[in-house]
Amino acid sequence: MMLELESLTHRYGTELAVDDVSFGVEEGELVALLGPSGCGKTTIVQAVAGHVRPTAGQVTLRGTDVTDAPPESRRVSVVFQQSTLYPHMTVRENVAYGLGARGIEPERRADVAREYLELVDLSEQRDAYPSELSGGQRRRVELARAVAPRPDVLVLDEPLSALDRSLRERLRDEIGRIQRETGVTTLFVTHDQEEAMALADRLVVMDDGSVAGTGTPRTLYESPPSPFVASFLGRSNTLSATVARREPLTLELGEQELALSDSRTDVSSGSVVTCHVRPEDLTLNAASATGPDGTASSVPGTVTRVTDIGRRYDVVVRLETGDEIVLEQTVSPPPTGESVSVGFREENVTIFGADQRDRTGVDVSSK
Ligand code: ATP
Repeated sequence: MMLELESLTHRYGTELAVDDVSFGVEEGELVALLGPSGCGKTTIVQAVAGHVRPTAGQVTLRGTDVTDAPPESRRVSVVFQQSTLYPHMTVRENVAYGLGARGIEPERRADVAREYLELVDLSEQRDAYPSELSGGQRRRVELARAVAPRPDVLVLDEPLSALDRSLRERLRDEIGRIQRETGVTTLFVTHDQEEAMALADRLVVMDDGSVAGTGTPRTLYESPPSPFVASFLGRSNTLSATVARREPLTLELGEQELALSDSRTDVSSGSVVTCHVRPEDLTLNAASATGPDGTASSVPGTVTRVTDIGRRYDVVVRLETGDEIVLEQTVSPPPTGESVSVGFREENVTIFGADQRDRTGVDVSSK
């Protein structure tokens, strides 16, 4: 493991900012640390870089405990949200500047700077000053400067947040390319789930100082471990159901039964659980239909709201169970007040135990 955090905890006075966080980043891996504002991401970055000495726990780089080591003794490069380029130095000088501290001999520094400016496609701007560059070009200089010393870990702390959307998407792809070409172990910190999912090999999702889930983007999206992860990674419907039987696990949704392949054993027969299903995984049928095919179950309901957002419709349906859910549809939906039936496929339904029910809610906003 290139970077490992073990039971990292940090308090600012009485404020618990990071609570017993453990995760690792393998050599060459790109891990996204993802979570809402204030969940402790920056504090973790500071502990990895050596600017914060954690209250408890360990930071290990290449198997060596660096928890108390000063920043300059760690091979960690950080790119922050705001530019930290030296305005009085040219692009080339900015990239070459940090190389001395990393033990690269003076005669090689110009060559290394040239190589990394080529990597970020800025060879022609090598003699320009930062003020003469666009925002995107400045970001690329920072990337070149951070990667050139071949750090053990590259930390990117919300590097795209200050940019407009289209530039953000282009630079996101550029970061992915640079990471693949250099193989640098990367911790990418962001509050933007789409950015994290597009770039990362693996996600570490944070909630209020703790790790809420880790896994590949697809695994966490399709089988979220908690309502928080489900709703943070995309739009999520939550609805309550009763466990009818455990083998096979069968839920009662109102009058309907839904058999799941889910093999969890911590739910007992008769208990009430929360299920999660994504809006794009639901189908809308005429009230009399029994479902599109034999693998789907359907629950009757009434359309309560339709929003046309151009490329799709969001249809809100109040089910006979009392739950209100949203589903996405590309063809023209039935009008408000119409009786319908909503189709569920068992492979798209995730269930959470009773202990995870308190933070759920129906997200019917148009994102
Ligand atoms: P953001 O995305 O808004 O920067 P974050 O996920 O990076 O948030 P942190 O900046 O690590 O989160 O903050 C975690 C918690 O610690 C927050 O509640 C914050 O108010 C608190 N905190 C952060 N820095 C300090 C500090 N220097 N003194 C006191 N409390 C702090």
